[in-house]
Parts: sequence; structure tokens; C-alpha cells
Amino acid sequence: MLRFIRLFFPLLLVALPWGLWPFVRETDPVLEQLLKGLPILLALTALLLAAGFKRGRIGLASLALACTAQLLGLAGSRGLDAPDAYMLFTATSLLLPLFYLWLMLQRDTSLLCRLGIIKLLGSLAPFALLLLAWQQPEQLALGLPSLPTYFIEVIAEHSLLTRGIFWLSLPLLLLYFVLTLTRRSVDEVALLGALLAQLLALHSLQTPLLSALFLASAALLLCTAIILHIYAMAFVDTLTGVPARRALEHHLAGLGRQYAIAMLDIDHFKKFNDTYGHDVGDQVLRMVASQLNRVTAGGALFRYGGEEFTIVFRGQREEEVISALDAVRERVANYPMKVRAPQRPKNHRTGRKSRTDAASDNTEQVKVTISIGAAWRKADEKPAMVIKRADKALYKAKGAGRNRVMADGVATPRRPRRATA
Ligand code: GH3
Ligand code: MG
Ligand code: MG
Repeated sequence: MLRFIRLFFPLLLVALPWGLWPFVRETDPVLEQLLKGLPILLALTALLLAAGFKRGRIGLASLALACTAQLLGLAGSRGLDAPDAYMLFTATSLLLPLFYLWLMLQRDTSLLCRLGIIKLLGSLAPFALLLLAWQQPEQLALGLPSLPTYFIEVIAEHSLLTRGIFWLSLPLLLLYFVLTLTRRSVDEVALLGALLAQLLALHSLQTPLLSALFLASAALLLCTAIILHIYAMAFVDTLTGVPARRALEHHLAGLGRQYAIAMLDIDHFKKFNDTYGHDVGDQVLRMVASQLNRVTAGGALFRYGGEEFTIVFRGQREEEVISALDAVRERVANYPMKVRAPQRPKNHRTGRKSRTDAASDNTEQVKVTISIGAAWRKADEKPAMVIKRADKALYKAKGAGRNRVMADGVATPRRPRRATA
């Protein structure tokens, strides 16, 4: 539950304009101009960040947002009573759901490669065409009589969001919501929020400053997605998804006086890699990390490097920590890990037969175990010294037959309840 709340947390930015609105109502003209320019500035910043950090879809959404803000600004400054301005407004708002539908089908490629540049130019093209059409207002105005009524009727009084755009966008919002739940990616949340904020900007276009704030919140959401991505690059291990060594260093720097550090190492992992291959080794690492993540007693898990993990516990509670460590050790040892069998059939016909034969499925169950060394901080000790003692305890656990927990700095080193060496 907490994970979902955290996932959708950036969406709060969409509500920010309502909170800010009472304070910006009475602004001086210079600030008003600045606020109107803010969405384009933020969207271009998001575009540059996205290009630098290879967030293709977020970059394309930022470009489209900058163009939308510019075109809505042009139409709004002429006044939507003018037929050409209304046509520009309608065409710009129609591009919004169409663009987000196309974006949903895109893969996240870098923007600074041939495909990325083609996509950038492709995204820019419809907006550039509208800008060209804006140069011939009479021609543009000619389209108004043939505009379907659902692009004229609005969804509510004082709203400028037409029924047509609303009904086109609603299924898209739902699809992005479902994608957020299934992919659990912050990019999807940002795209969902950016689409929603832009619809709210259309809705409130009669009050241009509120509309500009919604566009700015859309750009902020896109920037947030990139910043969270940069954060993950720095602090989260890509293979296992748990906090990485850099996060451990920050965590250690903020610890109080009483804490314990446990070093955990997968047993005979090299042999495992050699027998089944590196990709199966990676699969094992992910399984171990997900089991360790369920550690109790408030332990915080980090990937130390290679096949080693660290768990940090605040406070003294020795008994509780040892039993929490022993519980994760047992959890890993009992996990029914299925991996692809190392022997591949020599000839294709046998291979095809064995793939179709349900009885001879090509997987086997393997036993993965871990050894754990734990140490409690003594007076005046720095975290590096506690890690060193935990490491020593870990090597004792390896020497004593592996798949066990050994503690340093506790009166009696505990033996595991069920150690199978
Ligand atoms: P011990 O029980 O004494 O710990 O033996 P071990 O084989 O686990 O220890 P060793 O340190 O010799 O081997 C660690 C291996 O972990 C070597 C390396 O190939 C592998 N390894 C480190 N990082 C990764 C990774 O990210 N993915 C995979 N698949 N293997 C990794
Ligand atoms: Mg090791
Ligand atoms: Mg090992």
C-alpha cells in the first residue's frame, strides 16, 4: 500500500496550482509575464535533462508541452472569440490526446540518436504546421463552420475543455493509470499527471494565469520524473532494485551511537555462475535481494557489491537482530529456486522434443544459501571498523561450514536454528 502511495505521490503537483492560485491572483504585470513564460522555460529544462539522461518519452512529452504552451498562449492572447484563435485552440487541444496515445506506444529510446532525432522532429511537425497555419488567420478561420459541435460544446460552465477532447482523453488517462500500476514506473505517473494537468490548463484557459500554473505543474512533473531517475541511478542498484553502496555510505554517516551491521555473502556463488551462466547468477542475486528485503527488526538492506549485501540495524536489540538475520538466512535457504538446467540438448530435434515434452521441462531446482556476519558498534568505533568486524564474523561463518549467522561483539555467538552446511 505504502509503495502505491509513494508511486502516485508526484501527482500532488497537479493540485499545486489550486494552492498557489489565491496568492497569484493579484500580481504585478511583470510577474504575470514571468508566470506565463514559466511553463515553456520548465518544459525546455525538462527536455534538456531528458536528452542528457536518456529519458526519451519524457523528453518528447516536454517538447510537446512547450509547443502546447506556446500555441495556447498565442490563441489566448488573441482571444478565443476570434474564429482563427478558436481554431488554433481546438487543433492544439486535439493534438494533446493524439500525442499521448502515440507516446504510449513508444519505447524509451535516447533522444540523441538517429531514431530519437526522428521522433523529436516527428513530434515537432504537427505543432510547426499549426504555427504555419496561424500565419494565415483567414484560412484558419474558414474551418470554424465545419467544426463538429462536440468541439464547441464545453463540459461545464466557465470551462473551455470541449466534450470531444474530454471523451478522447478520458480512456487515455485510465490507460496511463493502468500502465502506472502494472509498470510501477515514475515515467508513467509523470505522463499521466502531465496529461491531466494540460487538460486542466485547457479547462481553466479563461483565467490565463491559472492555466499557466497548470502547464507549469505539468512541466514540473516531467522534471520530477527525470530527477527521480537520476536519484535512482545514483542510489539504487539496477540489478536488484535495492539501495546501492552509495546509499549505504550516506546511511552510515547518519547513524547514531547504537547500531549493528550485518554483512551477507552468497555461498559458492562463483561455482553457481560457472555452472549455470551469468544470467542465472543475476536471477539468483535478484531472488536473494527480494528475500533479504523482508528482513524484520527495522533492518535496512543495501547491495554492498558483487554477491555481498549489508543490513544495518539501529539500536541495540541483539536477540531480535540475530533472529531477524537467521530468519532471512532460512528464507533464502528454503526458497524453491528454479533455474535453467546447464546441459543443453546437443541436436535440434531432441531440443525441440524436450521443449514440447511437459514431463522433461528444462529447469531444475537449486539450493541457494547465504552466510552472515554481524557486529555491534563499540564505543568510539567508526562504521568502517564495525563493517570490518562484521566481515571477520562472516568469514568465521564461511569457515564453520556456511549457511549460518555468526556474531562479533555479542557475548555468545549464536548458532543457527537449522544450519545445513
Ligand atoms: P564463498 O562461498 O566463499 O563466498 O564463494 P563464492 O564463490 O561466492 O565467492 P567468490 O568471491 O569467489 O565469488 C563471487 C562471484 O560473484 C564472482 C563473480 O563472478 C560473481 N559476481 C559478482 N557480481 C556479480 C553480478 O552482478 N552478477 C553475477 N551473475 N555474478 C556476480
Ligand atoms: Mg564474496
Ligand atoms: Mg560468496
